[in-house]
Amino acid sequence: MDFAVPEPIQATLNEIREFLDAHVLPVEALFRDHEMPPVEAAMREVRAKAKARGLWLPQLSKRHGGMGLSLLEHGLVSEVLGRSPLGNWALNCQAPDAGNMEILAEYGTREQRERFLDPLIAGDTRSCFAMTEPDKAGSNPVWLGTAARREGDELVLDGHKWFTSGADGAAFAIVMAVTEPEGPPHKRASMIIVPTDTPGYTLVRNISVMGDVGGGWASHAEVRFEGCRVPAANMLGFPGAGFLIAQARLGPGRIHHCMRWLGICERAFDMMCQRAATRELAPGKFLGEKQTIQNWIAESRVEIDSARLAVLHAAWRIDAVGQKAARVEVSGIKFHVAKVLRNVLERSIQTHGALGITDDTVLSFFYRHERGAQIYDGADEVHKTVVARELLERYGLNLRSRGTK
Ligand SMILES: Cc1cc2nc3c(=O)[nH]c(=O)nc-3n(C[C@H](O)[C@H](O)[C@H](O)COP(=O)(O)OP(=O)(O)OC[C@H]3O[C@@H](n4cnc5c(N)ncnc54)[C@H](O)[C@@H]3O)c2cc1C
Repeated sequence: MDFAVPEPIQATLNEIREFLDAHVLPVEALFRDHEMPPVEAAMREVRAKAKARGLWLPQLSKRHGGMGLSLLEHGLVSEVLGRSPLGNWALNCQAPDAGNMEILAEYGTREQRERFLDPLIAGDTRSCFAMTEPDKAGSNPVWLGTAARREGDELVLDGHKWFTSGADGAAFAIVMAVTEPEGPPHKRASMIIVPTDTPGYTLVRNISVMGDVGGGWASHAEVRFEGCRVPAANMLGFPGAGFLIAQARLGPGRIHHCMRWLGICERAFDMMCQRAATRELAPGKFLGEKQTIQNWIAESRVEIDSARLAVLHAAWRIDAVGQKAARVEVSGIKFHVAKVLRNVLERSIQTHGALGITDDTVLSFFYRHERGAQIYDGADEVHKTVVARELLERYGLNLRSRGTK
């Protein structure tokens, strides 16, 4: 394995890093004030600058106006962008739009791409992805209450979703709904595009997350579909293809998430070291002289470095053997990196003392919003089950055939 980053991508990483420092980090102070309109106005300017420099859509191929990066290259870009909560938004690769763009580019018809994908690519609209429901365990994704029945040329949706990230202000939602109730579990649901101005679609509220309701892209909504009618042509792929489409981008999506989390770790680590090296406990006596702080710095560095190697290895395995055969590595990095993220944030906050829990630094935002890393993209416990199940199978214990999942 070669540890050197090839020169062209290193130059791009340097450019993105400089762009973040110069244009994105200054907007963070506004973001911490919890008022979205000024943030949105500032980010419109930042995004226009990024687009003009070609720092736009790292997740898409050149054919779709993107940067045309490999999985590994995109991972390295995600790491740099992770340093700021606004990094991905600046380059138009924020969740959930990035995933929706990939889905529409891959599975959308020409009409769907023209109407829904092109404005997303241009950065003129946003979208959301509505799958999780308050009344059904999201960890069992095939168990959905939301259904869409066919009536003539239309699909009629009824259901209740929540944690639909970025629904506030989104032009459309991609909704996972049961259309084939008699099919096998993984072939019951379809993805359906629902414009948010469709009668019967209601954004009930933005859900407060640890005291932060957020707004616009930085929010999570509860939404309802009540007799919500859309053209049948708004279905993505064939009826019952919902999980097939979702699974196709799970592995690569996980590499991007994990690398973004490592970018957050690096920022929190920098801040921890900076504080340890400059905070005086008494005149001339620095916090960094205390062994506990030294332990945290040493442990964090090694945890970040080893997690990073694991993620790069998983990306390499996906490229080499495909995401199905790389299941152990892909699930492994999900829970491992989420845990490292939590450890490093926790230590950095503690090193900052009271300052660490204020909104005067970015740490509190990361702590509030990235606690969810252990829950979204598959709860950690589910991924641990996947890893153990795959490994035990190599020793002759087949948990799948025993019905234990
Ligand atoms: C910040 C954030 C953003 C999100 N954005 C979106 C979005 O845009 N669109 C969307 O549709 N959803 C979104 N979600 C929802 C997310 O996908 C679900 O929260 C997740 O799938 C878990 O489902 P649940 O919350 O219903 O928890 P449950 O399924 O009820 O699980 C609760 C807990 O039970 C434990 N558990 C579950 N299964 C097992 C198991 N098999 N073995 C052992 N323990 C288990 C885990 O600890 C888990 O945390 C988001 C969530 C968060 C936190």
